[in-house]
Amino acid sequence: MILIMKPRVTLDQIDALKSDMTARGLIVQEIQGETTFMLGLAGDTSALSVDMFVGLPFVERVVKVSEPYKLAGRRFHPQDSVYEICGRVVGGGKLTVMAGPCSVESEDQVVSIAREVGRAGAGFLRGGAFKPRTSPYSFQGLGLGGLELLKRAREKTGLPIVTEIMSQEHAEVFGKEVDIIQVGARNMQNFPLLREVGRLGRPVLLKRGPSCTIDEMLMAADYILVEGNSPVILCERGIRTFETATRNTLDLSAVPVIKKRSHLPVVVDPSHGTGYRHLVEPMALAAIAAGADGLMVEVHNRPDKALCDGPQSITPEAFDCLMYKASALHKLLREVAGNHGNHGSA
Ligand code: PEP
Ligand code: MN
Repeated sequence: MILIMKPRVTLDQIDALKSDMTARGLIVQEIQGETTFMLGLAGDTSALSVDMFVGLPFVERVVKVSEPYKLAGRRFHPQDSVYEICGRVVGGGKLTVMAGPCSVESEDQVVSIAREVGRAGAGFLRGGAFKPRTSPYSFQGLGLGGLELLKRAREKTGLPIVTEIMSQEHAEVFGKEVDIIQVGARNMQNFPLLREVGRLGRPVLLKRGPSCTIDEMLMAADYILVEGNSPVILCERGIRTFETATRNTLDLSAVPVIKKRSHLPVVVDPSHGTGYRHLVEPMALAAIAAGADGLMVEVHNRPDKALCDGPQSITPEAFDCLMYKASALHKLLREVAGNHGNHGSA
């Protein structure tokens, strides 16, 4: 529910209304529109009626929000969310690139890849310490030891780290040590984990579940947002379809759809999205053209020997080439948009 205030509403009136709503267990979000000030109410609003508010002398209008997600939605937050994470701007027209190995395998491996992706222009080092593997017999990651190696790579290169949390038991250590906490596709609807991660107040990268709709992803984001004010970045990483030529079907239309429905930044993962290294660069460029705020790319110095996801990992040399093209394309698109406004967009 959104309450649109009359222009002469006072701060005391707003505060009193906010405390009343908070006391009812609701989340109240201030929304500054272009010309109006509004309060968004999220939570169980079934006990509220429009009549309760229209009688108030300082409320102009009440709008019921039909979308099932609230805090992630544009109605509650009309402007794009832009974050500063470890000195890097995410969203707001910047291109954020997170790159590194699927899994951390050794200090040499992760430090050398971190150096190379950093040199090529990546803003964050990604690497899995806890790996969600389909088979229980596959390499499961180095666990907390892997996190230590990521920290060492961060120390040596200055690159902040992105890594996946798989269990609530690691919330405390992730909350202290990890710069962006990744919630993987398989856990997108692990609601207790989402809540726990939301309580940490750290930036979260939320990957789309392989069989989840965009609205389900936005509701999952609400689970995190409702706990506090963790910056949430969404990640399109491909969905499961009948197509077998690629590992997943990278749903690039999700980018403009999300941009319309949500204020959260969106990055695209063309590695898991396709499963094959020759498809990573074209889909990365397509993602930028579709309006993505960034990319997540798997890079390995010896992809043929990688313990996880070698076929979709690109070499540091290929990553350097991708970065060159990605930056050039991003710059060009911004220039074109600057010159011509939003011609032709719906
Ligand atoms: C990953 O990023 O390494 C990963 C396991 O991705 P996803 O959760 O998208 O499968
Ligand atoms: Mn992987």
